[in-house]
Amino acid sequence: MSKVVKFGGSSLASANQFKKVGDIIRADEERKYVVPSAPGKRHINDTKVTDMLYGAYALAEAGKSFSKELKEIKLRYEEIINGLELQTNLDSEFDTIAANFKAQAGKEYAASRGEYLNGIIMADYLGFPFVDSAEVVKFNEDGSFNASLTDTLLKEKLKDLKGAVVPGFYGSLEDGTVKTFSRGGSDVTGSIVAKAVHADVYENWTDVSGFLIADPRIIDRPEVIDTITYRELRELAYMGASVLHEDAIFPVRKEGIPINIKNTNAPEDKGTWIVESTCQRSKYTITGIAGKKGFCSINIEKDMMNSEIGFGRKVLQVFEDNQISFEHMPSGIDTMTVFVHQDEFMDKEQKVVAGLYRLSQPDEVEIESDLALIAVVGRGMKATRGTAGRIFAALAHANINVKMIDQGSSELNIIIGVSNDDFEAAISSIYDIFVVAQL
Ligand code: ASP
Repeated sequence: MSKVVKFGGSSLASANQFKKVGDIIRADEERKYVVPSAPGKRHINDTKVTDMLYGAYALAEAGKSFSKELKEIKLRYEEIINGLELQTNLDSEFDTIAANFKAQAGKEYAASRGEYLNGIIMADYLGFPFVDSAEVVKFNEDGSFNASLTDTLLKEKLKDLKGAVVPGFYGSLEDGTVKTFSRGGSDVTGSIVAKAVHADVYENWTDVSGFLIADPRIIDRPEVIDTITYRELRELAYMGASVLHEDAIFPVRKEGIPINIKNTNAPEDKGTWIVESTCQRSKYTITGIAGKKGFCSINIEKDMMNSEIGFGRKVLQVFEDNQISFEHMPSGIDTMTVFVHQDEFMDKEQKVVAGLYRLSQPDEVEIESDLALIAVVGRGMKATRGTAGRIFAALAHANINVKMIDQGSSELNIIIGVSNDDFEAAISSIYDIFVVAQL
């Protein structure tokens, strides 16, 4: 049995946090492969080391002095080293980094040093070998991730090691140039390592005890989701829930490896399990609620639309021509409504309307702005009667006007459109009816 454990920035922001992480790893000998992030914020007004590195490198790029900034970064690491009473000396590492900054080694190289240095400290602290991700995580020339080469290299490197520290977030191109994933990308590294070693679990340690059923800025202390399927998570992520990098799902999902989101500051909490499929019923009919404000609807009306061949294609063609992606497209017999992100649409509004008249010759085009979409997601819906009824009764009770309803045939989610102003109240009333009422 082996587990891959990834620790986020806040879990490694200080010596104190490192100690918690050390205790967690030592408490379970299956926790063999460790993927650290760079030190994150120690308190709300603090700066992440990754951001400090971007800042210092911007100065280097502009030909300005960056020594004060680099020194501050070094201090962050020294504080950790001293607090852990280690002998790790990063002097020569920082000399190399300064020289590479001067030689303009690139923004991604700069950012990657956050994880690289934290990995060196972590390896020292645990007595585990350090594996430089630049040697084992590979990208193609066009910048895309090279999954098969990475898998081969990682397997080869890790096969004889009983444990290892593999820093998150970066890898390299064929010629050795350092490249990073997008922000939050250490989650992706953890997933790739878990796949390569056929881990039994990928534990992703952060500063929350798992995914919450709803946004805590809207619901006071919402319940934690204990088990969620990958598909459900996708439906929620797409509406804006972000604890885990989206790309972290694919490597482990293909191998049937579950992800367990855990809290470094409350290691006894069970956290959230993300699994491919499960016969575990969720505690409530719904697994989660997520949503986003700032959509526009374009309602296109035309008599006999239902019998006109190619009408839908022509409408969507207009959006494609204007480089606008659409979010949802509910339709009626003589109407079609297209939901788009308001900020993407605003500048192109009149071009779209003109295009619609030209290509699809509608009777009328009506635009409504400031709309919010809410996804109510749950694998339990399929087997439960009356879910939609309960949602709409709750919304009616809260005096909320529903502008759009869309239920996918998978019966995994129901999407509801309301006005921006009703967004929070709508989420509260849905949470109340499914969760609070069941407590
Ligand atoms: N340190 C990087 C960031 O701040 C990557 C990560 O933490 O996953 O985005």
